[in-house]
Amino acid sequence: MINFDILIVGGGIAGASVGAEVAAHRRTLIVEAEDQCGYHSTGRSAAFFLESYGGPVVAQLSTASADFLHNPPQDFAERSFLHQRGALHLSQGDWPELPSEVSALQVDRDELERMVPGIKPQWARALLEPGCADIDVAALHAAFLTQFRRSGGTVQLGARAMSARRESDRWRILLADGSELTASLVVNAAGAWADSVAECFGVGRLGVAPKRRTMVQLRVGRSGLKDLPLVNDSQGNFYFKGEGDRSIWLSPHDEIDTDACDAAPEEIDIATAIDRFEGVVDWPIERIERSWAGLRSFAPDRIPVYGFDPDVPGFFWCVGQGGFGIQTSPAAGKLAASILLEAQPDPSIAHIDARDFSPARFR
Ligand SMILES: Cc1cc2nc3c(=O)[nH]c(=O)nc-3n(C[C@H](O)[C@H](O)[C@H](O)COP(=O)(O)OP(=O)(O)OC[C@H]3O[C@@H](n4cnc5c(N)ncnc54)[C@H](O)[C@@H]3O)c2cc1C
Repeated sequence: MINFDILIVGGGIAGASVGAEVAAHRRTLIVEAEDQCGYHSTGRSAAFFLESYGGPVVAQLSTASADFLHNPPQDFAERSFLHQRGALHLSQGDWPELPSEVSALQVDRDELERMVPGIKPQWARALLEPGCADIDVAALHAAFLTQFRRSGGTVQLGARAMSARRESDRWRILLADGSELTASLVVNAAGAWADSVAECFGVGRLGVAPKRRTMVQLRVGRSGLKDLPLVNDSQGNFYFKGEGDRSIWLSPHDEIDTDACDAAPEEIDIATAIDRFEGVVDWPIERIERSWAGLRSFAPDRIPVYGFDPDVPGFFWCVGQGGFGIQTSPAAGKLAASILLEAQPDPSIAHIDARDFSPARFR
């Protein structure tokens, strides 16, 4: 039987980012149930960085991640993970509201028509958030895993953690193939499976709820769209952004309660997305090029959870990353690692109060 200091359950961006921070200090294993680490939410995101998203507590993590994403350390990546795009928050009435610390510019109707040709007349004004950027998610996730392995960490694919019991001060964990291993600490980074993994370890649920979100890639009869800003409705009914010269990524901003699963798009949600899109611009829709869905998992207060379970020793939560798990991952990985290792936080996150993220708030 192999013995580890830390076992991380889940190889998505949450597990990879905390793993990258701890592997140099502790013998660490990531077990990932699928044959590839980014198969679930991490591989299905809309891939943008939007500082205003998720409320003020989440925004602390996004802001603290921005420098790293924009200008990563040379030994982590050779180039930026961000490509600036800008976001337009549309309104039919009053000016939309954004957190005061997020820089934004007012865009009147004339300017809006120039930025989004063919926009329908009811959209009266918008706020432009220039800092919105695309994230190269695959490169970021791969860089975390590379750092993890380079620091001595091991990734085991096709390895589902099935059950565990605590024996004296160690966990004894059974994997789906019947093999066993031990670890002093377990990190639950299982995304939509967060609560079911906790139950496997005899830990009480936190109420982490997976919600399905749909994405559609549309080919439209309008060119010059590649650098179109992220266009979203301040009421939260849709967003879309340029993908290719004549294609866009569109979401109906859906949030459908579901069990943890391999999520797939439903026709009704694709139809809703298209219907809402047709209410924004007059661009003819030529075809649906592809569609997909993924799960965004939220704690009851929609703030992610980083910290030791208050009731069960050696069990650490790293869950509830909702719709911001990619853009917060550099700071979140550092925050989780500092709590896990009981170490001084990195200066980039030293101002963040870890208690805001503690699972103790639910018990
Ligand atoms: C449509 C959509 C759009 C999004 N857009 C954005 C965006 O623009 N910007 C942004 O920042 N975020 C976005 N997100 C959110 C982001 O994708 C998630 O917050 C993030 O990927 C969550 O990462 P994770 O590692 O927690 O989950 P996952 O990537 O799902 O990883 C969890 C892993 O745990 C594994 N696992 C589960 N149970 C076990 C077990 N028992 N044993 C072993 N392994 C197990 C799973 O197989 C899975 O691979 C979006 C999400 C969706 C669905």
